[in-house]
Amino acid sequence: MGDASICINCGRAVADPQQKFCPACGQPTPVHRIDWHFLGHELEHSVLHMDRGMLYSLKELMLRPGHLMRAYLEGRRAKQMKP
Ligand SMILES: [Zn+2]
Repeated sequence: MGDASICINCGRAVADPQQKFCPACGQPTPVHRIDWHFLGHELEHSVLHMDRGMLYSLKELMLRPGHLMRAYLEGRRAKQMKP
């Protein structure tokens, strides 16, 4: 654990420590350590994605279902989650 030069998944040596993926199995190297920084980052992402996707869709669905459906059918889907 903690050795960035060896793939944790398959054990293959990763020549370049800056390399982001194992050349053999494709696992990201080094694997993210699950620390507070990582959790905060993930949380931030999920909140942002919720804002842009699910919460927006839910809000629109509650307040203006017709509007949302029309927008969706007309192809304005960038802000919405896939159904
Ligand atoms: Zn590997």
